Amino acid sequence: MTTILAFLLYSFILLLSRLTRESIEPSPKICEEPLKRVCPTCNSEHAIKNGSTHNGKPKYQCKICSRQFVIGATKTTVLKETKQLIDRLLLERISLRGIARVAQVSWSWLQDYVNQKLAQTPRQVEALAKTLGKLLIECDEMWSFVDCKKNEVYIWLAIDRKSRKIVGWVVIRK
Ligand SMILES: [Zn+2]
Repeated sequence: MTTILAFLLYSFILLLSRLTRESIEPSPKICEEPLKRVCPTCNSEHAIKNGSTHNGKPKYQCKICSRQFVIGATKTTVLKETKQLIDRLLLERISLRGIARVAQVSWSWLQDYVNQKLAQTPRQVEALAKTLGKLLIECDEMWSFVDCKKNEVYIWLAIDRKSRKIVGWVVIRK
């Protein structure tokens, strides 16, 4: 009888000691370190809150260089090499969506990039007049169907070999 009582008392003390230890030593909580407001341009930590993005993410502004940024931004800047690849692909008359897939850029970014390129391109092209010399004619023909396959039409062009100017043409049916 006394052994049973002693066992019960022992287990009670053991349980009590565990409970008191847990109340004194709280289980370690996973503490997330707050993200530092480091400016991506000048690495300064002096940034102030500056509204939020359309997605609700807080925006910050660097007090040193005035750069606005988002902490943990998912957007990355497009590399110079990627831009060079895009420039070459644009000359190949590939669709914008196709280029966006190949270069792994967003379609909206690519559209903005193309718009910028267009704005930079001069509207008028200056062509220098070629000096005309002795006329040397070269003839070239091309043909196509008009309306239906029975109606074959040929276009003959007379081109000046030196200046590449078309000096005459004729359209004939076969
Ligand atoms: Zn800065």
